[in-house]
Amino acid sequence: MRFRVLGSGSSGNATLVECGAVRVLIDAGLGPRELAERLESAGVDPASLAAVFVSHEHQDHARGAAPFSKKWGVRLCGSRGTYAAAGLGSEDIAGYDVLEPGVPRAIGPLTVLGVPVPHDAAGPLAFVLEGEGCSLAHATDFGHVSRAVADGFRSCDALLIESNYDPAMLRDGPYPWSVKERILGSRGHLSNDDVARYLFRDLGEACRMVLLAHISQNNNHPELVRMTAEAALRRRGRTEVRLELASADGTGWMEVAPAGDGAARAPRQLRLF
Ligand SMILES: [Zn+2]
Ligand SMILES: [Zn+2]
Repeated sequence: MRFRVLGSGSSGNATLVECGAVRVLIDAGLGPRELAERLESAGVDPASLAAVFVSHEHQDHARGAAPFSKKWGVRLCGSRGTYAAAGLGSEDIAGYDVLEPGVPRAIGPLTVLGVPVPHDAAGPLAFVLEGEGCSLAHATDFGHVSRAVADGFRSCDALLIESNYDPAMLRDGPYPWSVKERILGSRGHLSNDDVARYLFRDLGEACRMVLLAHISQNNNHPELVRMTAEAALRRRGRTEVRLELASADGTGWMEVAPAGDGAARAPRQLRLF
């Protein structure tokens, strides 16, 4: 399995995931033309996508969903709440499949599971994608790491997680207080410190790669993001974990290695005896 971020942050989110011959998008927060161009520059025909999974209705995740679906004949998939709140029922789209949280959806060799997340949207979801013996957890836009998220992500080999803001930069920054309150709230966004706490306490033993995404350009700095996460991994003795940051323009391809090669699986096997 491999994946590639096509866009990240308030200017628009989209992640391409490839498992065997199956390709899906998570979110379509870029305009349909921009999205098609970025797919093509990754060597992917937009019409070849099996589905677009939409995490929630906010524009930076759903902006291009309906026009992209219509133009390229690609079905959308997400929660019932997202369907209603994004107004997809009144749009001309190629189709919509409701993803019930906790009920896996199989597309060829790929299985996608929706995990509810605490965010100020209608039925927002994170996703766990499994296939070819490995798994990727994908979560942006949530205010705190709930038990459902920590448990749902524990056996993943790779993790994409938002590291949205630095609390001091947000507090001292230019946003109106009502917006700051929203971001800081338990249904807002994850701070660098929230991510550090998660990495220290709950990162699963199998995880070998963490990609930090949805980094605010106003209330954060890539160096702070990296330093905070690195310090947490070091404290936890997890220096083998590869740490990467997604820029607004995305990333190159990232391989998700099966847990079979090397130390990743050893602790889990040992517990069986
Ligand atoms: Zn967002
Ligand atoms: Zn959002």
